[in-house]
Amino acid sequence: MHGDGVGAARAARRDEAVRAAVEQGLLGPDTPIVGLLDVEGIRESAAELRAAFDAVVAPGTPVLHAFAVKATPLVPVLRLLHEEGLGAEVASPGELALARAAGVPPSRTVLDSPAKTPAELREALALGIAVNADNPQELGRIDALMRPADSRSPLGIRVNPQVGGGSITATSTATATSKFGVALRDEGAREWVVRAYAERPWLTRLHAHTGSQGIPLSLLAQGVGEVYALAEETNRRLGRRQIDTLDIGGGLPVDFGSDAAAPTYAQYARLLAETVPGLFDGRYGLVTEFGRSLLARHGTVVARVEYAKSAGGRPVAVTHAGVQVATRTVYVPGSWPLRIAAYDAKGRPKEGPHVVQDIAGPACFAGDLLAEGRALPLLEQGDYAAVLDTGAYYFAHHYAYNSLARPAIHGFARDGSGGVGFAVVREAQTPAEIVAESGGAHARALTTLRTPGRR
Ligand SMILES: *Cc1c(COP(=O)(O)O)cnc(C)c1O
Repeated sequence: MHGDGVGAARAARRDEAVRAAVEQGLLGPDTPIVGLLDVEGIRESAAELRAAFDAVVAPGTPVLHAFAVKATPLVPVLRLLHEEGLGAEVASPGELALARAAGVPPSRTVLDSPAKTPAELREALALGIAVNADNPQELGRIDALMRPADSRSPLGIRVNPQVGGGSITATSTATATSKFGVALRDEGAREWVVRAYAERPWLTRLHAHTGSQGIPLSLLAQGVGEVYALAEETNRRLGRRQIDTLDIGGGLPVDFGSDAAAPTYAQYARLLAETVPGLFDGRYGLVTEFGRSLLARHGTVVARVEYAKSAGGRPVAVTHAGVQVATRTVYVPGSWPLRIAAYDAKGRPKEGPHVVQDIAGPACFAGDLLAEGRALPLLEQGDYAAVLDTGAYYFAHHYAYNSLARPAIHGFARDGSGGVGFAVVREAQTPAEIVAESGGAHARALTTLRTPGRR
Protein backbone atom coordinates (compact mmCIF):
# COMPACT_ATOMS: atom_id res chain seq x y z
CA MET A 1 0.00 0.00 0.00
CA HIS A 2 1.13 3.51 -0.80
CA GLY A 3 0.57 4.69 2.77
CA ASP A 4 2.63 1.91 4.28
CA GLY A 5 5.43 2.60 1.81
CA VAL A 6 5.51 6.24 2.88
CA GLY A 7 5.52 5.22 6.55
CA ALA A 8 8.31 2.71 5.99
CA ALA A 9 10.41 5.26 4.11
CA ARG A 10 9.88 7.76 6.92
CA ALA A 11 10.91 5.19 9.53
CA ALA A 12 14.04 4.38 7.52
CA ARG A 13 14.99 8.07 7.35
CA ARG A 14 14.44 8.35 11.10
CA ASP A 15 16.71 5.37 11.79
CA GLU A 16 19.44 6.93 9.66
CA ALA A 17 19.02 10.27 11.44
CA VAL A 18 19.22 8.82 14.96
CA ARG A 19 22.37 6.95 14.09
CA ALA A 20 23.93 10.00 12.41
CA ALA A 21 22.97 12.20 15.37
CA VAL A 22 24.90 9.91 17.71
CA GLU A 23 27.85 9.61 15.29
CA GLN A 24 28.03 13.37 14.78
CA GLY A 25 27.83 14.08 18.50
CA LEU A 26 24.43 15.82 18.53
CA LEU A 27 23.40 13.20 21.07
CA GLY A 28 25.56 11.73 23.80
CA PRO A 29 26.26 11.65 27.52
CA ASP A 30 26.46 15.45 27.74
CA THR A 31 23.64 16.12 25.27
CA PRO A 32 21.12 13.56 26.40
CA ILE A 33 18.07 14.89 24.54
CA VAL A 34 17.39 16.44 21.13
CA GLY A 35 14.48 17.01 18.82
CA LEU A 36 14.87 15.97 15.17
CA LEU A 37 12.81 17.25 12.23
CA ASP A 38 12.58 15.38 8.92
CA VAL A 39 12.79 18.05 6.22
CA GLU A 40 11.93 15.67 3.36
CA GLY A 41 8.87 14.49 5.27
CA ILE A 42 7.66 18.03 5.91
CA ARG A 43 8.04 18.89 2.22
CA GLU A 44 6.14 15.72 1.28
CA SER A 45 3.23 16.51 3.57
CA ALA A 46 2.98 20.09 2.28
CA ALA A 47 2.94 18.79 -1.30
CA GLU A 48 0.25 16.21 -0.41
CA LEU A 49 -1.94 18.91 1.09
CA ARG A 50 -1.65 21.13 -1.97
CA ALA A 51 -2.26 18.24 -4.36
CA ALA A 52 -5.29 16.99 -2.41
CA PHE A 53 -7.17 20.28 -2.80
CA ASP A 54 -5.85 21.01 -6.31
CA ALA A 55 -7.49 17.73 -7.33
CA VAL A 56 -10.98 18.78 -6.19
CA VAL A 57 -11.29 22.57 -6.61
CA ALA A 58 -12.42 24.25 -9.82
CA PRO A 59 -9.47 25.64 -11.78
CA GLY A 60 -8.56 29.16 -10.68
CA THR A 61 -10.09 28.88 -7.18
CA PRO A 62 -7.93 30.82 -4.71
CA VAL A 63 -6.79 28.42 -1.96
CA LEU A 64 -4.62 29.44 0.99
CA HIS A 65 -3.31 26.65 3.20
CA ALA A 66 -2.45 28.56 6.38
CA PHE A 67 -0.36 26.36 8.68
CA ALA A 68 -1.64 26.57 12.28
CA VAL A 69 1.48 28.05 13.89
CA LYS A 70 0.49 26.78 17.33
CA ALA A 71 1.26 23.23 16.18
CA THR A 72 4.97 23.93 15.61
CA PRO A 73 5.95 27.49 16.52
CA LEU A 74 9.47 27.44 15.06
CA VAL A 75 10.61 30.10 12.60
CA PRO A 76 12.61 27.73 10.33
CA VAL A 77 9.57 25.43 10.05
CA LEU A 78 7.34 28.36 9.07
CA ARG A 79 9.94 29.44 6.52
CA LEU A 80 10.15 25.95 5.00
CA LEU A 81 6.36 25.76 4.74
CA HIS A 82 6.23 29.27 3.25
CA GLU A 83 8.64 28.14 0.54
CA GLU A 84 6.42 25.09 0.04
CA GLY A 85 3.52 27.43 -0.76
CA LEU A 86 1.78 27.53 2.62
CA GLY A 87 0.74 30.53 4.72
CA ALA A 88 0.33 30.92 8.48
CA GLU A 89 -2.62 30.91 10.86
CA VAL A 90 -1.68 32.81 14.03
CA ALA A 91 -3.47 33.20 17.35
CA SER A 92 -1.31 35.52 19.48
CA PRO A 93 1.15 38.40 19.15
CA GLY A 94 3.97 35.87 19.61
CA GLU A 95 2.76 33.64 16.79
CA LEU A 96 2.31 36.65 14.51
CA ALA A 97 5.88 37.72 15.30
CA LEU A 98 7.12 34.22 14.40
CA ALA A 99 5.28 34.24 11.08
CA ARG A 100 6.70 37.67 10.25
CA ALA A 101 10.20 36.59 11.24
CA ALA A 102 9.82 33.66 8.84
CA GLY A 103 8.91 36.05 6.04
CA VAL A 104 5.28 34.95 5.69
CA PRO A 105 3.61 37.98 4.08
CA PRO A 106 0.49 39.53 5.66
CA SER A 107 -1.51 38.52 2.60
CA ARG A 108 -0.84 34.86 3.51
CA THR A 109 -1.47 35.23 7.24
CA VAL A 110 -4.75 34.72 9.13
CA LEU A 111 -5.39 35.87 12.73
CA ASP A 112 -7.89 33.76 14.69
CA SER A 113 -7.47 33.96 18.46
CA PRO A 114 -10.39 34.06 20.93
CA ALA A 115 -8.97 36.95 23.01
CA LYS A 116 -7.56 39.62 20.70
CA THR A 117 -6.78 42.96 22.35
CA PRO A 118 -7.50 46.25 20.61
CA ALA A 119 -3.75 46.64 19.99
CA GLU A 120 -3.57 43.26 18.26
CA LEU A 121 -6.55 44.06 16.08
CA ARG A 122 -5.08 47.45 15.19
CA GLU A 123 -1.77 45.86 14.18
CA ALA A 124 -3.46 43.17 12.10
CA LEU A 125 -5.63 45.70 10.28
CA ALA A 126 -2.65 47.98 9.67
CA LEU A 127 -0.69 45.08 8.19
CA GLY A 128 -3.58 43.79 6.07
CA ILE A 129 -3.75 40.43 7.80
CA ALA A 130 -7.01 38.47 7.52
CA VAL A 131 -8.95 38.51 10.78
CA ASN A 132 -11.83 36.29 11.87
CA ALA A 133 -13.85 38.01 14.58
CA ASP A 134 -14.66 35.55 17.33
CA ASN A 135 -17.78 37.19 18.76
CA PRO A 136 -20.04 40.26 18.63
CA GLN A 137 -17.88 42.25 21.07
CA GLU A 138 -14.84 41.71 18.86
CA LEU A 139 -16.76 42.71 15.76
CA GLY A 140 -17.73 45.88 17.65
CA ARG A 141 -14.03 46.58 18.25
CA ILE A 142 -13.29 46.11 14.58
CA ASP A 143 -16.15 48.49 13.71
CA ALA A 144 -14.61 51.10 15.99
CA LEU A 145 -11.11 50.63 14.58
CA MET A 146 -11.99 50.37 10.97
CA ARG A 147 -12.71 52.84 8.37
CA PRO A 148 -13.50 49.88 6.15
CA ALA A 149 -11.92 51.31 3.01
CA ASP A 150 -8.68 51.81 4.95
CA SER A 151 -7.69 48.22 5.49
CA ARG A 152 -6.73 45.52 3.05
CA SER A 153 -7.52 42.92 5.69
CA PRO A 154 -10.05 40.33 4.56
CA LEU A 155 -12.47 40.12 7.47
CA GLY A 156 -14.80 37.39 8.60
CA ILE A 157 -16.69 35.92 11.52
CA ARG A 158 -15.91 32.65 13.26
CA VAL A 159 -18.91 30.50 13.98
CA ASN A 160 -19.25 27.42 16.12
CA PRO A 161 -21.38 25.00 14.12
CA GLN A 162 -22.17 23.12 17.37
CA VAL A 163 -22.02 19.79 15.55
CA GLY A 164 -20.60 18.09 18.66
CA GLY A 165 -17.30 16.87 20.03
CA GLY A 166 -14.89 14.06 19.33
CA SER A 167 -13.06 11.60 21.55
CA ILE A 168 -10.97 14.30 23.31
CA THR A 169 -12.98 16.99 25.07
CA ALA A 170 -10.06 19.42 25.38
CA THR A 171 -9.64 19.65 21.61
CA SER A 172 -13.33 19.61 20.63
CA THR A 173 -14.21 23.15 19.58
CA ALA A 174 -17.72 22.60 18.18
CA THR A 175 -19.54 21.44 21.30
CA ALA A 176 -22.69 23.26 22.39
CA THR A 177 -20.79 25.26 25.02
CA SER A 178 -17.38 25.72 23.33
CA LYS A 179 -15.70 29.07 24.01
CA PHE A 180 -14.95 29.65 20.32
CA GLY A 181 -16.90 31.66 17.76
CA VAL A 182 -20.56 32.57 17.52
CA ALA A 183 -22.62 29.59 18.71
CA LEU A 184 -24.70 29.12 15.60
CA ARG A 185 -27.57 27.06 17.00
CA ASP A 186 -28.20 29.36 19.95
CA GLU A 187 -31.39 31.34 19.75
CA GLY A 188 -31.12 34.30 17.43
CA ALA A 189 -27.52 33.57 16.44
CA ARG A 190 -28.18 32.87 12.76
CA GLU A 191 -30.20 36.05 12.44
CA TRP A 192 -27.46 38.00 14.15
CA VAL A 193 -24.85 36.65 11.74
CA VAL A 194 -26.90 37.47 8.64
CA ARG A 195 -27.57 40.97 9.96
CA ALA A 196 -23.88 41.46 10.78
CA TYR A 197 -23.02 40.83 7.14
CA ALA A 198 -25.92 42.91 5.87
CA GLU A 199 -24.66 45.91 7.85
CA ARG A 200 -21.01 45.45 6.90
CA PRO A 201 -20.33 45.04 3.19
CA TRP A 202 -16.64 44.64 4.03
CA LEU A 203 -17.25 41.33 5.86
CA THR A 204 -16.41 38.76 3.21
CA ARG A 205 -15.31 35.62 5.00
CA LEU A 206 -16.83 32.93 7.18
CA HIS A 207 -14.76 30.67 9.44
CA ALA A 208 -15.14 27.53 11.56
CA HIS A 209 -12.68 25.06 13.06
CA THR A 210 -14.52 22.02 14.34
CA GLY A 211 -11.70 20.61 16.45
CA SER A 212 -8.23 19.16 16.71
CA GLN A 213 -7.39 15.44 17.12
CA GLY A 214 -10.09 12.98 18.05
CA ILE A 215 -12.66 14.48 15.66
CA PRO A 216 -13.81 11.95 13.04
CA LEU A 217 -13.66 13.07 9.41
CA SER A 218 -17.44 12.85 9.13
CA LEU A 219 -17.84 15.43 11.92
CA LEU A 220 -15.22 17.73 10.38
CA ALA A 221 -17.13 17.53 7.10
CA GLN A 222 -20.40 18.23 8.91
CA GLY A 223 -18.86 21.38 10.41
CA VAL A 224 -17.73 22.54 6.97
CA GLY A 225 -21.20 21.75 5.62
CA GLU A 226 -22.76 24.04 8.23
CA VAL A 227 -20.43 26.89 7.28
CA TYR A 228 -21.17 26.43 3.60
CA ALA A 229 -24.93 26.39 4.22
CA LEU A 230 -24.70 29.56 6.31
CA ALA A 231 -22.69 31.34 3.61
CA GLU A 232 -25.23 30.32 0.97
CA GLU A 233 -28.13 31.48 3.14
CA THR A 234 -26.45 34.79 3.93
CA ASN A 235 -25.57 35.55 0.32
CA ARG A 236 -29.08 34.59 -0.82
CA ARG A 237 -30.76 36.80 1.76
CA LEU A 238 -28.43 39.69 0.97
CA GLY A 239 -28.99 39.23 -2.74
CA ARG A 240 -25.24 39.50 -3.40
CA ARG A 241 -22.21 37.23 -3.20
CA GLN A 242 -20.74 39.08 -0.23
CA ILE A 243 -19.17 36.07 1.48
CA ASP A 244 -16.54 35.10 -1.06
CA THR A 245 -14.16 32.96 1.04
CA LEU A 246 -14.72 30.07 3.43
CA ASP A 247 -12.11 29.26 6.06
CA ILE A 248 -12.66 25.61 6.93
CA GLY A 249 -10.11 25.30 9.76
CA GLY A 250 -7.81 22.35 10.37
CA GLY A 251 -8.10 19.29 12.56
CA LEU A 252 -7.24 16.28 10.38
CA PRO A 253 -6.43 13.62 13.00
CA VAL A 254 -3.16 11.69 13.21
CA ASP A 255 -2.95 7.98 14.15
CA PHE A 256 -0.39 8.02 16.98
CA GLY A 257 -0.60 4.25 17.33
CA SER A 258 0.87 3.34 13.96
CA ASP A 259 2.58 4.65 10.84
CA ALA A 260 -0.69 4.45 8.90
CA ALA A 261 -1.08 7.28 6.44
CA ALA A 262 -4.87 7.40 6.87
CA PRO A 263 -6.74 9.59 7.03
CA THR A 264 -5.06 11.48 4.21
CA TYR A 265 -5.67 15.00 2.93
CA ALA A 266 -6.85 13.41 -0.32
CA GLN A 267 -9.49 11.36 1.51
CA TYR A 268 -10.68 14.42 3.42
CA ALA A 269 -10.82 16.61 0.30
CA ARG A 270 -12.80 13.91 -1.55
CA LEU A 271 -15.18 13.54 1.39
CA LEU A 272 -15.77 17.30 1.39
CA ALA A 273 -16.38 17.23 -2.36
CA GLU A 274 -19.01 14.49 -1.86
CA THR A 275 -20.74 15.83 1.25
CA VAL A 276 -20.64 19.56 0.52
CA PRO A 277 -21.30 19.81 -3.20
CA GLY A 278 -20.79 23.40 -4.22
CA LEU A 279 -17.89 24.04 -1.83
CA PHE A 280 -15.28 23.55 -4.53
CA ASP A 281 -17.15 24.82 -7.61
CA GLY A 282 -15.15 28.03 -7.76
CA ARG A 283 -17.68 30.43 -6.19
CA TYR A 284 -15.75 30.50 -2.91
CA GLY A 285 -12.09 31.01 -2.24
CA LEU A 286 -10.81 28.64 0.45
CA VAL A 287 -8.59 28.87 3.50
CA THR A 288 -7.46 25.80 5.44
CA GLU A 289 -5.63 25.74 8.80
CA PHE A 290 -4.00 22.36 9.27
CA GLY A 291 -1.39 21.96 11.98
CA ARG A 292 -0.87 18.55 13.57
CA SER A 293 -1.42 16.55 10.37
CA LEU A 294 1.34 18.51 8.60
CA LEU A 295 4.06 18.22 11.24
CA ALA A 296 3.40 15.51 13.83
CA ARG A 297 4.91 12.65 11.85
CA HIS A 298 8.09 14.53 11.05
CA GLY A 299 9.39 15.15 14.55
CA THR A 300 11.17 12.76 16.90
CA VAL A 301 12.44 13.38 20.42
CA VAL A 302 15.47 11.22 21.15
CA ALA A 303 16.54 10.82 24.76
CA ARG A 304 19.38 8.92 26.38
CA VAL A 305 18.67 6.28 29.00
CA GLU A 306 20.57 7.67 31.98
CA TYR A 307 19.77 4.75 34.25
CA ALA A 308 18.05 1.42 33.80
CA LYS A 309 16.59 0.07 37.00
CA SER A 310 13.97 -2.27 38.33
CA ALA A 311 11.20 -1.58 40.83
CA GLY A 312 8.63 -4.07 42.08
CA GLY A 313 9.73 -6.41 39.34
CA ARG A 314 9.14 -3.78 36.61
CA PRO A 315 12.10 -2.61 34.50
CA VAL A 316 12.21 1.21 34.39
CA ALA A 317 14.28 3.19 31.88
CA VAL A 318 14.96 6.65 33.28
CA THR A 319 15.40 8.91 30.24
CA HIS A 320 15.77 12.65 29.63
CA ALA A 321 12.41 13.02 27.89
CA GLY A 322 9.35 13.43 30.04
CA VAL A 323 6.75 15.99 30.97
CA GLN A 324 8.87 18.91 29.68
CA VAL A 325 8.58 17.75 26.06
CA ALA A 326 5.49 15.50 26.19
CA THR A 327 3.23 17.36 28.59
CA ARG A 328 -0.11 16.14 27.33
CA THR A 329 1.05 12.53 27.14
CA VAL A 330 2.38 12.54 30.68
CA TYR A 331 -0.66 14.20 32.22
CA VAL A 332 -3.38 12.60 30.07
CA PRO A 333 -1.81 9.37 28.79
CA GLY A 334 -5.12 7.81 27.79
CA SER A 335 -5.90 10.52 25.25
CA TRP A 336 -2.36 11.20 24.04
CA PRO A 337 -0.39 7.93 23.72
CA LEU A 338 2.95 8.05 21.90
CA ARG A 339 4.98 5.28 20.32
CA ILE A 340 8.51 4.73 21.59
CA ALA A 341 11.30 3.18 19.53
CA ALA A 342 14.39 1.68 21.17
CA TYR A 343 17.90 2.40 19.85
CA ASP A 344 21.21 1.16 21.22
CA ALA A 345 24.10 3.33 22.41
CA LYS A 346 25.34 3.72 18.81
CA GLY A 347 21.94 4.81 17.61
CA ARG A 348 21.08 1.53 15.87
CA PRO A 349 17.54 0.10 16.17
CA LYS A 350 17.53 -2.26 19.12
CA GLU A 351 16.69 -5.91 18.53
CA GLY A 352 15.83 -8.62 20.99
CA PRO A 353 12.81 -9.95 22.85
CA HIS A 354 10.22 -7.44 23.93
CA VAL A 355 10.06 -6.79 27.65
CA VAL A 356 7.26 -4.95 29.43
CA GLN A 357 8.85 -1.83 30.94
CA ASP A 358 8.21 1.75 31.96
CA ILE A 359 9.87 4.60 30.08
CA ALA A 360 10.24 7.45 32.53
CA GLY A 361 11.23 11.09 32.21
CA PRO A 362 13.62 13.16 34.32
CA ALA A 363 11.08 15.19 36.31
CA CYS A 364 10.57 14.82 40.05
CA PHE A 365 7.10 13.37 40.25
CA ALA A 366 6.07 9.75 40.01
CA GLY A 367 3.73 10.23 37.07
CA ASP A 368 6.48 11.50 34.76
CA LEU A 369 6.20 8.50 32.42
CA LEU A 370 6.28 8.58 28.63
CA ALA A 371 4.89 5.07 28.57
CA GLU A 372 3.83 2.65 31.26
CA GLY A 373 4.09 -1.12 30.86
CA ARG A 374 5.20 -0.88 27.23
CA ALA A 375 6.65 -3.97 25.49
CA LEU A 376 9.95 -3.03 23.79
CA PRO A 377 13.45 -4.47 23.49
CA LEU A 378 14.85 -3.93 26.97
CA LEU A 379 16.29 -0.43 27.29
CA GLU A 380 19.67 -0.39 29.01
CA GLN A 381 21.90 2.35 30.35
CA GLY A 382 23.32 4.40 27.47
CA ASP A 383 20.62 3.35 24.98
CA TYR A 384 18.25 5.86 23.41
CA ALA A 385 14.47 6.04 23.53
CA ALA A 386 12.92 7.81 20.54
CA VAL A 387 9.50 9.36 21.06
CA LEU A 388 7.75 9.21 17.70
CA ASP A 389 5.36 11.60 15.96
CA THR A 390 6.31 14.52 18.20
CA GLY A 391 6.73 17.19 15.51
CA ALA A 392 3.53 19.02 16.51
CA TYR A 393 2.45 20.14 19.99
CA TYR A 394 5.41 18.40 21.69
CA PHE A 395 9.02 19.60 21.65
CA ALA A 396 8.10 23.08 20.58
CA HIS A 397 5.68 23.27 23.55
CA HIS A 398 8.21 23.11 26.31
CA TYR A 399 6.91 22.96 29.85
CA ALA A 400 9.42 24.32 32.36
CA TYR A 401 8.81 21.80 35.17
CA ASN A 402 11.95 21.33 37.32
CA SER A 403 13.54 24.07 35.20
CA LEU A 404 14.44 21.39 32.68
CA ALA A 405 16.13 23.00 29.68
CA ARG A 406 14.52 23.27 26.28
CA PRO A 407 16.42 20.78 24.11
CA ALA A 408 18.06 21.70 20.81
CA ILE A 409 16.11 20.92 17.67
CA HIS A 410 17.90 19.92 14.46
CA GLY A 411 16.45 19.51 11.00
CA PHE A 412 17.84 16.63 9.00
CA ALA A 413 17.99 15.46 5.38
CA ARG A 414 19.85 12.74 3.53
CA ASP A 415 22.82 14.31 1.76
CA GLY A 416 22.58 12.18 -1.41
CA SER A 417 25.84 10.33 -0.79
CA GLY A 418 24.70 8.00 1.95
CA GLY A 419 25.05 10.45 4.84
CA VAL A 420 22.70 12.66 6.82
CA GLY A 421 23.10 16.43 7.10
CA PHE A 422 21.80 18.43 10.06
CA ALA A 423 20.87 22.09 10.53
CA VAL A 424 20.16 23.83 13.83
CA VAL A 425 16.50 24.82 14.10
CA ARG A 426 16.71 25.94 17.72
CA GLU A 427 19.64 25.93 20.16
CA ALA A 428 19.33 24.18 23.49
CA GLN A 429 18.45 26.48 26.38
CA THR A 430 21.40 27.14 28.69
CA PRO A 431 21.34 27.31 32.51
CA ALA A 432 22.20 31.02 32.23
CA GLU A 433 19.12 31.54 30.07
CA ILE A 434 16.99 29.67 32.58
CA VAL A 435 18.27 32.01 35.32
CA ALA A 436 17.62 35.08 33.17
CA GLU A 437 14.07 33.93 32.36
CA SER A 438 13.43 33.16 36.03
CA GLY A 439 14.04 36.60 37.49
CA GLY A 440 17.82 36.38 37.63
CA ALA A 441 18.09 40.13 37.11
CA HIS A 442 15.78 40.77 40.07
CA ALA A 443 17.30 38.51 42.74
CA ARG A 444 16.69 41.01 45.59
CA ALA A 445 13.31 42.21 44.35
CA LEU A 446 11.29 40.62 47.16
CA THR A 447 13.67 41.29 50.03
CA THR A 448 13.85 45.00 49.26
CA LEU A 449 10.08 45.46 49.03
CA ARG A 450 8.86 47.02 52.30
CA THR A 451 6.22 45.00 54.12
CA PRO A 452 4.14 46.11 57.14
CA GLY A 453 5.89 45.60 60.48
CA ARG A 454 9.36 45.43 58.96
CA ARG A 455 11.72 48.20 58.13
C1 LIG B 1 -5.58 24.54 16.64
C2 LIG B 1 -6.28 25.16 15.49
C3 LIG B 1 -6.03 24.70 14.19
C4 LIG B 1 -5.13 23.52 13.90
O1 LIG B 1 -5.61 22.31 14.36
P1 LIG B 1 -4.82 20.96 14.04
O2 LIG B 1 -5.56 19.92 14.76
O3 LIG B 1 -3.43 21.13 14.55
O4 LIG B 1 -4.86 20.77 12.56
C5 LIG B 1 -6.64 25.36 13.15
N1 LIG B 1 -7.48 26.42 13.37
C6 LIG B 1 -7.74 26.87 14.59
C7 LIG B 1 -8.64 28.03 14.76
C8 LIG B 1 -7.15 26.25 15.70
O5 LIG B 1 -7.44 26.70 16.92
